[in-house]
Amino acid sequence: MFEKPLLVINGIGFGLSTILSLLRHSLSFRLKLLRHFMSPSSPSSSSSSEKPRNIVIVGASIAGYTAARTIAQYLLPNSPYRVVVVEPRDHFHFTWVLPRFCVAEGHEHKAFIPYGGYLPPGSLEADGGKVAWIRDRVARIERDAVTLEGSGEHIPYEFLVVATGSGATDSLPSRVPASDKEEGLALLRHMQRRIKEAKDLVVVGGGAAGVELATDAKSKYPEKNVTLVHSRSAVMHRFGPRLQAAALDGIKELGIEVVMGDRVVNEDKEKGVAVLKSGKEIVCDFLVNCTGQRPDSKLIAELSPSSISESSHILTKPTLQIQDDSLPNIYVCGDVSETNTTHPNTRSAMRQAMVCAFNVLAGIEGKKPKDVYEPHWLDGVIKLTLGLDKSVSNVGDEKTEFLFPTKERKEELMAAGAWHKLGAKPFEDDGSFLSKIKSKM
Ligand SMILES: Cc1cc2nc3c(=O)[nH]c(=O)nc-3n(C[C@H](O)[C@H](O)[C@H](O)COP(=O)(O)OP(=O)(O)OC[C@H]3O[C@@H](n4cnc5c(N)ncnc54)[C@H](O)[C@@H]3O)c2cc1C
Repeated sequence: MFEKPLLVINGIGFGLSTILSLLRHSLSFRLKLLRHFMSPSSPSSSSSSEKPRNIVIVGASIAGYTAARTIAQYLLPNSPYRVVVVEPRDHFHFTWVLPRFCVAEGHEHKAFIPYGGYLPPGSLEADGGKVAWIRDRVARIERDAVTLEGSGEHIPYEFLVVATGSGATDSLPSRVPASDKEEGLALLRHMQRRIKEAKDLVVVGGGAAGVELATDAKSKYPEKNVTLVHSRSAVMHRFGPRLQAAALDGIKELGIEVVMGDRVVNEDKEKGVAVLKSGKEIVCDFLVNCTGQRPDSKLIAELSPSSISESSHILTKPTLQIQDDSLPNIYVCGDVSETNTTHPNTRSAMRQAMVCAFNVLAGIEGKKPKDVYEPHWLDGVIKLTLGLDKSVSNVGDEKTEFLFPTKERKEELMAAGAWHKLGAKPFEDDGSFLSKIKSKM
């Protein structure tokens, strides 16, 4: 009876403690900044003869980008440190809208948000700041340096933040398997065309990506046969029973066939069928695989095999240092990290990134890391679309759930909001960021 009010009170408490923690960091930084400017002996910047000391960030999706932004925001002007971001993609990939943009046409460019605007103004090296951004991929991590794949460059680091996420090897609709925006746009348009032309569409996987893609496809093209195949006994099985039921209702209302407790083992293109483990065959002229993503932990697996969990995530301490005492300056955040987060998502990735950032900032002052990451149910809020004009939002802990059905008005969903949040004007992309960075791809 009291579960829901208690959950709300707990959520408010969590919100307040998050705000207080940010205020504490901000205040402490402002005091340091004041001392820096008031001290007559402070040089205005680190001596130019001194080589900058590197804080390297591997991967700049939401976790790495947030870590880079936070560290850049809090580095003192005379700090001998600089942030080096290594990211192969030329744009930020906004994953939330990918299933939708695999079906709905004309919006695909909105999934590629120009980098740069989320960093503090003037923080790129090209603008005289302390962030070096390299468009490349890290091929190897050693104890004190990383090696880049494209240029072969060896970059020494004092602190490393690994934010390689999950899904780098996955394909649409979960990830765009391309580093170039133009190639990504072509892949999305190809997918839209294949779905439009298909008569019998089979979608594999009843997680969020599969449910969203199947319901969007059936809602846009009601005449198609759409079948959703899921290996578990419920769609959205990682979430609570109310969301599972709402998802199934939405799927069935649209007339989608659902096969549960079975899996696709083969796609016989000649015969035009998807073959299931049970032996059942489903007529299929286009199959979309929406099954799980894999954490991209191989770089750390090579350096510290004992830091890798059975699920291939990187094991972390509460401070988000990796669970290897011989490598105290390596931090991990986002989907690649093992933090006991029930539903890893953008919010948990951002909170983890801030913990990494503040601990790195403490480390460069010779202090011990103090910030810790604790998973919270509020991070797990999800909005699941169930066709082009309908969605349901859900949040809760393992005992109780809230469900909010919503009417969706915009086909592009929340794309414009994400552009704003990442400091970009929807949907303008003049390429200015790319002209300022080191491109070695
Ligand atoms: C279809 C879909 C819909 C989603 N919807 C939502 C939603 O509605 N709400 C929500 O909160 N979350 C959502 N998520 C989850 C969210 O996208 C992830 O939790 C989030 O992207 C995790 O961010 P990350 O930075 O940890 O990793 P990722 O986003 O996986 O990015 C990893 C980054 O690392 C880079 N990288 C990888 N290897 C290297 C290397 N060797 N060198 C350099 N860089 C490298 C990659 O290029 C990439 O930019 C969704 C996910 C999917 C797939």
